[in-house]
Parts: sequence; structure tokens; C-alpha cells
Amino acid sequence: MAIFVYAENINGVYKKAAFEAVSYAKAIAEKAGDSVTAIAINPTDASDLLYKYGADKVINVKDEGLKNFSAKAYAQAVNEVAEGNIIVFPHTTDASSIAPMLAISKGSSLITNVIAAPDSVSPFEVKRKAFSGKGFMHAKADTSSVIITVSQNAYGVKENQASGSEEVKNLSVANEDTKVINHEQSSGKLDLKEAEIVVSAGRGMKGPENWGMIEDLAQVLGAATASSKPVADIGWRPHAEHVGQTGKAISPNLYIAVGISGAIQHLAGVNGSKTIVVINNDPEAPFFKAADYGVVGDAFQIIPALTEKIKAFKGQ
Ligand code: FAD
Repeated sequence: MAIFVYAENINGVYKKAAFEAVSYAKAIAEKAGDSVTAIAINPTDASDLLYKYGADKVINVKDEGLKNFSAKAYAQAVNEVAEGNIIVFPHTTDASSIAPMLAISKGSSLITNVIAAPDSVSPFEVKRKAFSGKGFMHAKADTSSVIITVSQNAYGVKENQASGSEEVKNLSVANEDTKVINHEQSSGKLDLKEAEIVVSAGRGMKGPENWGMIEDLAQVLGAATASSKPVADIGWRPHAEHVGQTGKAISPNLYIAVGISGAIQHLAGVNGSKTIVVINNDPEAPFFKAADYGVVGDAFQIIPALTEKIKAFKGQ
């Protein structure tokens, strides 16, 4: 039986999280001696993009009713086409709301936020994040049918070219829950949860007028920008940038924290980052305990100098 994987797209374009989920499904398939079938809903991107990461087959679901996202309707659509015992989702906002609904319909075990290839496929045993990323646990499914969500940037995107074939499936799922009144799409900006590098700043920046230097640094690094919670609460930055226990949980390869104290609630959202660099003028700031590299000093001097150095290094 094939390993199924939900390949999420946004406006038809596959997300990096979809490639990571397909890569992960391939790792399971190799362990289980199975093939990988990806399910995509109204994609405009070519299926070749999924074959590249190991999808042997892509079921291209076409359904006008699914133009607007509804977890319930999407769960129903996936349920209609996924016939396997193991279904992989990325742990994105949308997919992590589809997965539990599908688990209920199928009577499957649900294991969320997995961070490594499974230790065993039957029974399904895997390492996952616990306690807002402050710990790990090994979860074991007690049913043969299991649905998992893969923590973003944890397993990684791995090329594994398959020859691949596509099947178009026309569905007409009733989508009665969603009435879109207004839809705003941020354009041209990197998706914070998918970014490899994140430059984040907090109250140490003193005011919104000083964020230009954070954006400049992010731009030369090709990074997304983030912030601490109070900064979003007081309106210095949009709420979409707030990371932490009550904001987004991210795990980039490099997280640069500028003028952020490192409260436990902030760390809960960023401690999955592969490398953490902290810039703070207080040598006692708690964030230094979680840092791989720390710079004690004034952000207002360090950030512009760092940006210039990186520009020079890159020959810009
Ligand atoms: P501060 O704690 O004020 O820290 C500012 C830092 O900037 C200090 O360390 C200071 O030394 C440094 N600084 C000052 N000037 C400079 C300079 N010139 N150069 C360099 N450094 C400088 N917080 C989150 O971020 N995310 C969450 O999801 C979140 N959820 C929460 C949930 C609950 C239930 C609660 C109670 C709190 C939550 N918080 C969250 C708030 C959290 O506890 C902290 O209050 C918050 O993270 C502090 O933000 P900050 O580091 O920007 O500000």
C-alpha cells in the first residue's frame, strides 16, 4: 500500500513544506518497501516538482468548491482519495488543521510535529517535539492507520528523483463552511515558517522607526523578519511576525535575535532553530544561555556594521 502525502500549495504553487513532506514520505516508503502517492488540491505547479523529491504518483484533485480553504472540506477531499494506512502532512497552519479531522474520520492515530524519520513503521514509532519544543518524546501509534504532521525545516527537503505519473481526480466536495469576505495575501515577502534564515528583533530596538536596519540585514541575508510578542502587541510590527509560545513556532537554519531578552515564552517558538545568534547589550540576558553565538553590544552599532560586512563579503 502506498504512503500518502498531502502536498500543500498556496494559490496553486507548492510550498517548500510540501517538498519536505514528500521527502519524509519517501523515507517511510523506503523503510516499508512502498511507493509514495502525493495528493495535491487544485495545483497549478507541475507534478514534476513532486517527482523530484520521491513522489511516484501525484493525484491532482480538481474541485472548484475547494478554491477557498476549509479544513473540513479539505479533510473530506483527502479522505476520498487517500487509501493508504500512512498519511503524511506538513505541520503548516492549514495542514495541521486538516490532519486531526482526517484522523477522526479514519479512526487513525495522530502524531504531530515529528522531527525525524520513523524508528519503526509497523508499529509506527517516531520522535516528535513536546512541550512547545522544550523537549522530545518517542510516540508509538496503537493503530495500523496513522497520520503524521512533519515539523517544518526539521527533516529537510531531500531530492530523490522518481519517474512519476499523474492522475487527475475531479471531485465536488461541499464546502459550506467558508465564506471569504476579504483575502489579503502578503506578496514578495518570505514565508516566516519556511525561511532558512530569520532576523528577529524585540523591544531593544526602542521603536518601529528603527526597524529599517533589521530589514536591511534580512535583505542582504535573504532572510525573513520576525519579532518578539510585545513588539507586535504595541503595534511596532505586524502580528504575523510574532514568534514564540503564543506566536509562530519556527525552526530556521539560522535565527538572529536582536534586542530580545530570551524569555521562556519566546524561546518556546525558536529553540528548534539549528543555529542561534544573539545580539544584546546586557551580558546577563537569558537568551545567551540558548545561543550558539553571542555578541554583547549595542544593536544600533552592530547591525549596520554587520550588514555592511556581509554586503562587502557578497560583493554587493
Ligand atoms: P524585553 O524583555 O524588554 O527585552 C529587550 C532586550 O533588549 C533586553 O534583553 C535588553 O538588554 C535588550 N536591549 C536593549 N537595548 C539594546 C540595544 N541597544 N542593543 C542590544 N540589545 C538591547 N514573548 C514572545 O516573544 N513570544 C511569545 O509567544 C510570548 N508568549 C507569551 C505568553 C505568555 C502567557 C506570557 C505571560 C508572555 C509571553 N511572551 C511572549 C512575553 C515574554 O514573557 C517576554 O515578555 C517577551 O518575550 C519580551 O520581549 P523582548 O525580549 O522584546 O523585550
